[in-house]
Amino acid sequence: MSGLHYNLHDIYEEVSRRNPGETEFHQAVYEVLHSLGPVVSKHPEYVDTAVIRRLCEPERQIIFRVPWIDDTGTVQINRGFRVEFNSALGPFKGGLRFHPTVYLGIVKFLSFEQIFKNSLTGMPIGGGKGGSDFDPKGRSDGEVMRFCQSFMTELYRHLGEYTDVPAGDVGVGMREIGYLFGQYKRITNRYESGVLTGKGLTWGGSQVRTEATGYGTVFFIKEMLKAANDSFDGKRVVVSGSGNVAIYAIEQIHELGGTVVACSDSSGYVVDEKGIDVALLKEIKEVKRGRIIDYAEARAGAAHSVQGRPVWEVPCDIAVPCATQNEINGDEAAYLIKGGCRFVAEGANMPCSPAAIKQFNEAGVTFAPGKAANAGGVATSALEMQQNASRDSWTFVDTEKRLEEIMRRIHNRCLSTAEEYDQPGNYVAGANIAGFIRVADAMLALGLV
Ligand code: NDP
Repeated sequence: MSGLHYNLHDIYEEVSRRNPGETEFHQAVYEVLHSLGPVVSKHPEYVDTAVIRRLCEPERQIIFRVPWIDDTGTVQINRGFRVEFNSALGPFKGGLRFHPTVYLGIVKFLSFEQIFKNSLTGMPIGGGKGGSDFDPKGRSDGEVMRFCQSFMTELYRHLGEYTDVPAGDVGVGMREIGYLFGQYKRITNRYESGVLTGKGLTWGGSQVRTEATGYGTVFFIKEMLKAANDSFDGKRVVVSGSGNVAIYAIEQIHELGGTVVACSDSSGYVVDEKGIDVALLKEIKEVKRGRIIDYAEARAGAAHSVQGRPVWEVPCDIAVPCATQNEINGDEAAYLIKGGCRFVAEGANMPCSPAAIKQFNEAGVTFAPGKAANAGGVATSALEMQQNASRDSWTFVDTEKRLEEIMRRIHNRCLSTAEEYDQPGNYVAGANIAGFIRVADAMLALGLV
């Protein structure tokens, strides 16, 4: 594969050969290896001790059957996954995704990304991720509960506050975390709050966890703008998705003086030139579990919807992809550049393809990768673990302040590392290198395990 340091080329070939067909995982590994060229030139010990090869092989991969009974009495079978990738810095930590597209390659890519993201937060958490090809959309509460109970009936034996601590991701919100936690508690006879994060506030959850990924992404963008002597004031912003990350990103952008003029779901997008009405969006998406087109209908004349087209054709100054992997490819990047976009920050995991990132670089668009920009979610999960361990709970204001400070530190660490490796302003290089060095040094210290 072109563009890789000669010492890393063979590692990439080995990853592709040993994980056939897992294209998203190959993409995530390539992107990290691509940044590590200057690191291995300076520190050949990372290659000589096989730290990088070890980093590309998960510590443990669990695949299991999830049988459950739907509302018609029919037996359904799904597949469950947990990839425990790296625990050099702490217990495996990362969300669960319930979506029909989930297969081992998706879980592996997310888990691999999570290692570097968690390392960047500076907190004691390793990298893991899991999920299932179960689709909660259109399922009754009873069906979702029975599925979650069956899923946890297998997964519980692999979890623990010092072992592996899952959270939510696409398709897994507080409802699902509740059913999962309930089943864990029932099977183990332990109220082990620290085994799952994203819990409800009355049963061990943390303030700001719901808002954390979206808010954190926006705090990161605030720092990017500051570094460019700019601010959110008067900026037009486009956000993709209308789920957990998107909703709270929109809320915080409005708080800081920007205007989000469009957002989307998998069926299309809505444009509301006065700014997306967040309360209405929450009502439609969080309460009624409706579609984005319902938003345009509810705003009668003030907003319009477009079906089957990418939201990126709406001109903006700042783009915040918060939906899914590879949602911005070459064509979508071209729309953004043509529409005057100058900043892109990933709220989702790997929403921009390598071709899109290349175009942003060539056009002078400042780009921040998800493993840095969206790390606020997992960082606040680590704060939830801290509160659980000390039987404490902090206020919203205090927790939000900590989140903002963590995002500022991650931002500054990306920039200072990029500078140190002669790539000033390159957030991708800064995030990958800083995330890698912390975990690689821990692996060296722990010996060959
Ligand atoms: P949700 O399930 O809450 O929301 C996902 C949103 O994206 C939905 O509105 C969904 O629409 C939309 N979507 C999915 N596919 C497409 C598509 N092809 N085009 C347009 N919209 C689409 O998930 P989250 O908000 O939790 O997660 C979003 C992203 O952020 C994921 O990449 C996730 O891994 C990442 N992330 C999440 C964290 C968290 O704390 N939740 C932490 C860090 C990263 P529809 O309903 O139609 O499917």
